[in-house]
Amino acid sequence: MREKLLNINELAVHFKLEEGIFKAVDGINISVGKKETVCLVGESGSGKTLTALAVMRLIPKPGFIAGGEVLFLGQDLLKVQEEQMREIRGARVSMVFQEPFTCLNPVYTVGDQIGESVDLHIGLKGLQKKTRVLEVLQLVGISDATRVYGAYPHELSGGMRQRVMIAMGIVSEPDLLIADEPTTALDVTIQAQILELLAALKEKLSLSILLVTHDLGIVNETGDRVYVMYSGRIMESGPKKDIFSGTKHPYTEGLLKSVPDLGPVKNRLYTIPGSIPEPLKVPGGCRFHPRCPYVMDICREKEPAETKFNGEHSAWCFRYGK
Ligand code: SF4
Repeated sequence: MREKLLNINELAVHFKLEEGIFKAVDGINISVGKKETVCLVGESGSGKTLTALAVMRLIPKPGFIAGGEVLFLGQDLLKVQEEQMREIRGARVSMVFQEPFTCLNPVYTVGDQIGESVDLHIGLKGLQKKTRVLEVLQLVGISDATRVYGAYPHELSGGMRQRVMIAMGIVSEPDLLIADEPTTALDVTIQAQILELLAALKEKLSLSILLVTHDLGIVNETGDRVYVMYSGRIMESGPKKDIFSGTKHPYTEGLLKSVPDLGPVKNRLYTIPGSIPEPLKVPGGCRFHPRCPYVMDICREKEPAETKFNGEHSAWCFRYGK
């Protein structure tokens, strides 16, 4: 049995809008084991980034965590004092975002910015601090660490900036790194390099990674287990090989067909018809039913319960269960 690092139980993130309550994350369960890469995949607007932000307790207003638990090594992060959460954030759990340029401060050098994390989370000063920053820059594959140490963010390429963000994320050797679309803004070659880097860091630092992505191609490259999210709910979950070779849920099937090299339709772009429901317009029954090629009457009336397959593979769909 895999030792669990993170257990998200019945997490709900709601937004209070003028017209009503939007349930952006609607009671989901996710776990991440030690030294495991878990991918949370779905289209834009599915609630995956909000799930990641909820773990960090960084939900933007008017959003709020409406229920559930985020157990990190058995401690519920939703219940700890803000001061303690500040210590956990960055030191034990850290997050890397999609566009590093907007997260790095343009008026400070890379050395200053990573140094601040070293100071805050490890308490090193002066030369020791600088040594640690140079060490971590090398660890993320930056060969000219001394130059990058003194550079400003605008002097670096997109791929290099993402390496700097990852360096900042791992400088205090956290247990869990959350990476939110870490390669989306990068070209394909650099994307592959960043994924390789994350895989290497996982081994070297015994990291657990929660990778948020819209791209099943990336999941195929990097994940151990996968959660497929749609409109605030998990639709299918399981080990990567089961999700790819024994796909159960029609939504996962659609996502797979959208990746030309993975799906049965080669070299032709497929898109799932329709779009993700708008806030406050989430359909009743199975929320994927307006887009589902297999829709049945019951799908419009009731929400499907979990059906378990072999091992840890589950899907929420009336094609299998009641
Ligand atoms: Fe499609 Fe029905 Fe399954 Fe939903 S429950 S995915 S509508 S078949």
